[in-house]
Amino acid sequence: MAAHSFTALYHHPNQPLTKIFKPKTLKPQKIIKPITSKLRAAVIGGGPAGSSAAEALATGGIETYIFERSPESAKPCGGAIPLCMLDEFSIPSHLIDRKVTQMKIISPSNLTVDFGKTLKPNEFISMLRREVLDNFLRARAEERGATLVKALVTNIELPVSKTSPYIIHYISNNTKGELAVDVVIGADGAHSKVAKAIKAGEYTCAIAFQERIRLPEEKMRYYENLAEMYVGDDVSPDFYGWVFPKCDHVAVGTGTVSSRQNIKHLQCAIRNRVKHKIVGGEIVKVEAHPIPEHPRPTRVRGRAALVGDAAGYVTKCSGEGIYFAAKSGRMCGEGIVRASENGRKMIGEADLRREYLRKWDDEYFCTFKFLDILQKVFYGSNAGREALVELCGKEYVQRMTFESYLYKRLAKGGALEDARMAMDTIGSLIRCSVVGWEMMDG
Ligand SMILES: Cc1cc2nc3c(=O)[nH]c(=O)nc-3n(C[C@H](O)[C@H](O)[C@H](O)COP(=O)(O)OP(=O)(O)OC[C@H]3O[C@@H](n4cnc5c(N)ncnc54)[C@H](O)[C@@H]3O)c2cc1C
Repeated sequence: MAAHSFTALYHHPNQPLTKIFKPKTLKPQKIIKPITSKLRAAVIGGGPAGSSAAEALATGGIETYIFERSPESAKPCGGAIPLCMLDEFSIPSHLIDRKVTQMKIISPSNLTVDFGKTLKPNEFISMLRREVLDNFLRARAEERGATLVKALVTNIELPVSKTSPYIIHYISNNTKGELAVDVVIGADGAHSKVAKAIKAGEYTCAIAFQERIRLPEEKMRYYENLAEMYVGDDVSPDFYGWVFPKCDHVAVGTGTVSSRQNIKHLQCAIRNRVKHKIVGGEIVKVEAHPIPEHPRPTRVRGRAALVGDAAGYVTKCSGEGIYFAAKSGRMCGEGIVRASENGRKMIGEADLRREYLRKWDDEYFCTFKFLDILQKVFYGSNAGREALVELCGKEYVQRMTFESYLYKRLAKGGALEDARMAMDTIGSLIRCSVVGWEMMDG
């Protein structure tokens, strides 16, 4: 039986609730057969991952539903995105609040390094409000043909055979609804319901805490195009504290994995380190949210795939996840379009593994691993952090770092310069360790 004739029995989210049929009456099928009508997909979550997945699916001819529980609210986030995302995802420049061209990194001993010296005149880090970015990406997915369902997904019923549907249970306007689909993309963030339903396993999370502080005009001018990163045991034992400029305020925050219960003390410490720069500021919002530390043990099961934070795609060191969310959503959506021949054919787990998971791992596994190692070396102790800031002062390190961050490609360095950087790293680590010991002894 064609997959569509299964799904057609179920409630369409934009129609009033009528009779809902249960899948138990349908006999399991063993063979994946081509379907006569379009493949149906549900994307759970309307953040950057979900919108990008839905856009790719709808553009490729798949009947697409995107579920978002609160399209009006803003995800707690710094909102920094790399330059290449503007082009790759055609993000118009009027959505950008601030173009950061200066970056300061400040060590535990307050050694300050200007980290944006190698940026070219047309290079910057874009700062956006998430409510603005997310609305734009969702609206574009709708324009391409996806149906936005403003609803909280409460449960996902798994299929009883290789071709029978997933049943999405949701609540919209206090009314329960169900939708039957052939494919599910879990783009529902760190507390993913889809991950639970498919038994994708757990991951460790950091907790990020952030205060939005509205500054007096003259104080805000200082942060016009400047972002700051603070490292040190006081602000975070394993991450960093930040001050990011937003449209009319700054976001001051910190994150940690190992000291989650102390997050409020760490937040006091970052506020303390920037206190003279934020004098007279008014806290307008306080927010906290988990950040995944590594991919989930399982990211694809059956005809369901996880993308973005639900999959665990946030880089160590920088805590960057927006670009990887959008990219994984798009990659997964396009993979489904290819495997299903524009929605004409049913897909299976092997298709998702081949067309999405393998391609993702080929492209990003090394980047994630490399940043993981860097975090262990440099964020583990104050000596490491002093060494990190010292190294960030070097032009070659800045050039390589920004090129990799802004363009998401491995920057090409010279063999000699690479060797020198390795020596500098070892030198800085030893020197800072020795100075650290002397400071402790004294
Ligand atoms: C404080 C903080 C600062 C950060 N700063 C940056 C930064 O500057 N730059 C950067 O690149 N990354 C940053 N990140 C990481 C970034 O926010 C995430 O990696 C990114 O949002 C992941 O996008 P996503 O679409 O996968 O998930 P999310 O953005 O979390 O979106 C998930 C969506 O699913 C919806 N949803 C969840 N469950 C359901 C359900 N059951 N039913 C219906 N809808 C549901 C939610 O409402 C939400 O809209 C930061 C994170 C934090 C916490």
